[in-house]
Amino acid sequence: MRRDAALNPRDTGAPDIYIDWPPFNANFSGVRVISSIAAMQQLAKQWRRAGKRIGFVPTMGYLHAGHLSLVQRARQAVGRNGMVVVSIYVNPTQFGPQEDFSKYPRDLRRDVKLCRRTGADVVFTPGDKEMYPGRAEGRYSTCVVEEDLSRNMEGASRPTHFRGVTTVVAKLFNLVQPDVAAFGAKDWQQAAIIRRMTADLNFPVKIIVGPTRRERDRLAMSSRNQYLTGGLRRQATVLWRAIQAARAAVKKSGAVPASTLKAGLKKLIQAEPDARLDYVEFFDPDTLVPAASVTRGAHMALAVFIGKTRLIDNGRL
Ligand code: AMP
Repeated sequence: MRRDAALNPRDTGAPDIYIDWPPFNANFSGVRVISSIAAMQQLAKQWRRAGKRIGFVPTMGYLHAGHLSLVQRARQAVGRNGMVVVSIYVNPTQFGPQEDFSKYPRDLRRDVKLCRRTGADVVFTPGDKEMYPGRAEGRYSTCVVEEDLSRNMEGASRPTHFRGVTTVVAKLFNLVQPDVAAFGAKDWQQAAIIRRMTADLNFPVKIIVGPTRRERDRLAMSSRNQYLTGGLRRQATVLWRAIQAARAAVKKSGAVPASTLKAGLKKLIQAEPDARLDYVEFFDPDTLVPAASVTRGAHMALAVFIGKTRLIDNGRL
């Protein structure tokens, strides 16, 4: 069997025992599923007292190989004696009122199985009532807000999104007490904001950013890809094609005005019948400051609606 077969959620026929994979799996016998916040806090405390390193991967579940590659990165970072926690929590505060919170895909059984196979120790699945006490009655009122990197791109299109993300990640850091937390480059702006928040609020957490995992046709893996039925799935490759087109333009011309590049990419994207460009931006990969003239080494990010599904992707030019 392919070494990475267990990473592919569609491989349902895979056996449960692997001889040499994953390399650092400290716990073949099972993964612990914890939904109580008090139990998670107690366990983290216990681990810290025992001198164990804690690796953490926050997710919204419906796991795919991109998530699982982060679990492996966390395991590598803390070693076989460390503990790896994957949180699965569809965080309501990072969804806008018109977004897909209620229909976001969920399959905890499958996620737990995948986490076990990938060598996680704990799957943490807190509930809304404990995460946001009193929120339904309007009595939850404390948030974490990053005020610089959050303004453009996703922040402009989804005005309350990053406030929800930084709030939930800060809360999860408090609960899990990680030494290391792994995030994906797929959400480039989010990773930059989490780094900034971690530094600004003095969380003693090392942030690792793992590369974007892609399907065979280079579509970035995403839990939302399962919304792409029929012809939409093929049209979704236009995000990757747009990144490639921008790379080619920059390679050919050296420097291209951002406005020219944006206009060309918009045309390319909207040639697909069900595609609508939300934004495309070029910027410094670390500071996220927009570039007026796009050269090699700039970073590009874009969001595109394919039918009703909003997809994002990014890449270095
Ligand atoms: P989500 O469940 O979408 O909130 O994602 C949880 C984590 O997985 C985030 O840090 C994402 O950036 C990361 N992630 C999502 N998709 C991918 C991917 N295709 N490759 C690598 N990491 C990813």
